[in-house]
Amino acid sequence: MSDTPIPDLPRRDFIRELVADDVATGRFGRPPATRFPPEPNGFLHMGHAKSICLNFGIAREFGGTCNLRFDDTNPFTEEMQYVEAIKRDVEWLGFKWDGEFYASDYFEQLYDIAELLVKKGKAYVDDQTEEEIRTNRGTVTSPGTPSPFRNRSTDENLDLLRRMKAGEFADGACVLRAKIDMAHPNMIMRDPLLLRIRRGAHHYRRGTSWHIFPLYDFAHGLSDAIEGITRSLCTLEFKDNRDIYDWLVEHAGFTDPPRQIEFARLELDYTVLSKRKLLRLVNEGHVSGWDDPRMPTIAGLRRRGVRPEAIRDFAEVIGVARKDARVEIASFEHAVRNDLNMEVPRVLCVLKPLKVVLTNYPEGRVEMLEAQNYPHDVPKTGTRQIPFSRELYIDRDDFMEVPAKKFFRLSPGSEVRLRFGYIIKCEELVKDAAGNVVELRCTYDAETKSGGANSDKKVKGTIHWVSAAQALSCEVRLYDRLFSIPDPDDVPEGQDFISALNPDSLVVIPEAKVEPTVGQDPVGTRYQFERAGYFMSDVEDSRPGKLVFNRIVGLRDSWAKEVKKG
Ligand code: ATP
Ligand code: MG
Repeated sequence: MSDTPIPDLPRRDFIRELVADDVATGRFGRPPATRFPPEPNGFLHMGHAKSICLNFGIAREFGGTCNLRFDDTNPFTEEMQYVEAIKRDVEWLGFKWDGEFYASDYFEQLYDIAELLVKKGKAYVDDQTEEEIRTNRGTVTSPGTPSPFRNRSTDENLDLLRRMKAGEFADGACVLRAKIDMAHPNMIMRDPLLLRIRRGAHHYRRGTSWHIFPLYDFAHGLSDAIEGITRSLCTLEFKDNRDIYDWLVEHAGFTDPPRQIEFARLELDYTVLSKRKLLRLVNEGHVSGWDDPRMPTIAGLRRRGVRPEAIRDFAEVIGVARKDARVEIASFEHAVRNDLNMEVPRVLCVLKPLKVVLTNYPEGRVEMLEAQNYPHDVPKTGTRQIPFSRELYIDRDDFMEVPAKKFFRLSPGSEVRLRFGYIIKCEELVKDAAGNVVELRCTYDAETKSGGANSDKKVKGTIHWVSAAQALSCEVRLYDRLFSIPDPDDVPEGQDFISALNPDSLVVIPEAKVEPTVGQDPVGTRYQFERAGYFMSDVEDSRPGKLVFNRIVGLRDSWAKEVKKG
């Protein structure tokens, strides 16, 4: 309409460029209308999150609308529990849909369009089997063979279509096909299937009353058109479907048709982003459920402790491209760490407890030390009091009997600072019959606490600790990559992605020791356990007196370090 560009429209990727042009030129004569169209046959995953952030993000940024449409045209795989999970996940990600729609509510409208196409001579009922139809479709280099039923009269087609709908025919007896071109260079255009019979199949919303189900191509574009969508965003594998999309909306009589744009699907290393594969992991018991914290599902990430902000930031960072590319999991972990770093308080938790006895500390005495909650973030304040006493736990990894080079933590005769506390010196080891170190006997220097006479004494290492008597026992679940190779489908002939599962993706520490201050926090509280990573108490399995923590992400990329070590 106006030829002055609207300067502040976001144009940071090729899709937003197009939408900005639509707005600037008034192409659709209305604000951008997008939709997120999941099939309710599983839980949403990170790939869907990318699509959600894109579709809802565009609506938000351009003052348009975004519908949530359940693409529920397959009676065999869809369930109400998935609809509910999808709605919960979209909301949790921070988005509110304008309309909530179901393709299964359009079955009547789609049927009317089917009759219209038949009347226009643009569709016919074919009695060939789907197998015959496939073989007769030809190849990229040779045209297809027209069906012997292709030239049925309109009346005969209409009669058969009505009887298909009435449930007179068995599954597979016939199908409705578009009548386009059996020699079309795009194979999809060689008279694609529109409706097939699933007589008496139980659809989770329509029950058993509906007998003819639309195929993806028939339902998808027309649903977009019915809802007045302007830009229909989908992943690249649907590029070849764009011809049939356009053909159907045109022949169904929509004068202001939506336009499909394809973008790269998200593929993330060391995981699988496909509901079908994730369903197998659930059904075969490789994970505890759709919300297992190792799953790349929104529900799994939520349970693990990832915040929606991190997922949205990640979607922003990876952007939208026209070419498929795998994304390194490290870039997702970076987004998660980055989001939590400034947000969550620090606490001390010892994952692998090793007893330390301070031989010169009075027995029975407990003093409270002041600890900063946000030592990383000066504007945020807050301190807490943590108990200190003669018997402590430190982490086994902070002790080496024969220290490696540059090991600045505890070893016989060495000194180390206890976080928020004193400098201690390792004087003696206690071993069990097998020769394992089971206790360290140390001395502490009472003047090395903050404010003490020797408080500026320097030692090279600072380690975390908890007071043995007051620490709370907790279970800690450490998660690692679900698959041991970047592309889980890249397995030897005869095997599938299941064989690429990482056997160590979950390590349970049955008894770690955490400082007592966390005991009062509600489940689902997130922390950084200093020097150990980011954790959240598990919302399902934590009980009063028996906390369970999930590791959300480590402090840095431990894999990159291992690769470097070689
Ligand atoms: P799956 O193979 O996991 O079932 P799908 O594409 O069949 O994926 P749908 O429920 O049909 O899943 O998808 C809903 C929307 O999410 C579609 O618009 C689809 O393009 C998008 N989507 C699904 N997976 C990805 C992905 N990996 N990256 C980006 N978008 C995706
Ligand atoms: Mg699908």
